[in-house]
Amino acid sequence: MNGLIDTHNRRINYLRISITDRCNLRCQYCMPKEGVSLFGHGEILSYEEILRVAALAVKRGIDKIRITGGEPLVRKDVVSLVRKLSGLAGVRDLSMTTNALLLGEFAAALSRAGLRRINVSMDSLDPEKYRRITRGGDLKKVWEGIDAARRSGISPIKINVVAIAGFNDGEIEAFARLTLKDPFQVRFIEFMPIGESSEWKPEQCIPASSIRERLEEIAPLLPLSDPDNGRGGPARLFKFPGAAGEIGLISPVSEHFCGSCNRLRLTADGRLKTCLFSAELTDLKPLLRSGAGDEELAAKLDEALLSKPAHHGPIGGVMKRCHLPMVKIGG
Ligand code: SAM
Repeated sequence: MNGLIDTHNRRINYLRISITDRCNLRCQYCMPKEGVSLFGHGEILSYEEILRVAALAVKRGIDKIRITGGEPLVRKDVVSLVRKLSGLAGVRDLSMTTNALLLGEFAAALSRAGLRRINVSMDSLDPEKYRRITRGGDLKKVWEGIDAARRSGISPIKINVVAIAGFNDGEIEAFARLTLKDPFQVRFIEFMPIGESSEWKPEQCIPASSIRERLEEIAPLLPLSDPDNGRGGPARLFKFPGAAGEIGLISPVSEHFCGSCNRLRLTADGRLKTCLFSAELTDLKPLLRSGAGDEELAAKLDEALLSKPAHHGPIGGVMKRCHLPMVKIGG
């Protein structure tokens, strides 16, 4: 089959699967202090159910899968899921987004199970600020996780930094300098207004263009690719001359990339979300649990695709439209 094409003629080949809404951190911008009300165990898709949806999606043209959460490494037996997903014929790219706190423990097994690359979320290089934004996280563990991933041959390692004015804007240059000697791809992501509980204010979002200007003061930024060639996904990629690593700028707020959006998201409780900024969800669980056949499930997938908007509306209305917090979507 030659791919899932949506009603706006975009080829949808990327499925992001949230496997849990549990997280071992409480990042201030991602969830409220007291956490969020969690899905019950019976509400979360089993690995068999996730694999069934993934296999069907792959048959229909998905060839890129990301495992996310919550924190994916807190779900029991995550390595076995990775092994099975990487074994699906047709999956050419399997990755994971993680806070890396448990990566030291899991990196080698994940690599053996077929995980080739990883994105690590890290919003500060200062242990005390990291502890504050994550409400208790230990930055040392994150670095141990990254080191373990490198030793296990997981590559590239991308470091995701949500750039938040008044919090980590003083660290942008230091994050970028990490790429001078290490082969990381450091990606600056604009802070997005997601979920009812988000405390997003427009002035907290640092536009990618101003990050670029600041980085150009360190050294010229050599452009590596355009956003449509697929290598960096929505990131515009750059490199300092002679640097070991790369820098990515991701601008969902100041300059959306809806025209080339190739994504579908599956929440941990089995709902398909076709646009990060839309409230529209298509629930697959009733079908999965009522003995529906693959044809019926595939028809539901097509139905979900119909709801993928050409682009999201004005960013200001997003918080009202999209009530799921990011921890329940997966980023
Ligand atoms: N626990 C994993 C982790 O920390 O990477 C995966 C889930 S987390 C929800 C996925 C990503 O979403 C993280 O990189 C996080 O920084 C990002 N994120 C959460 N809320 C965001 C927001 N409002 N704007 C931009 N990125 C956000």
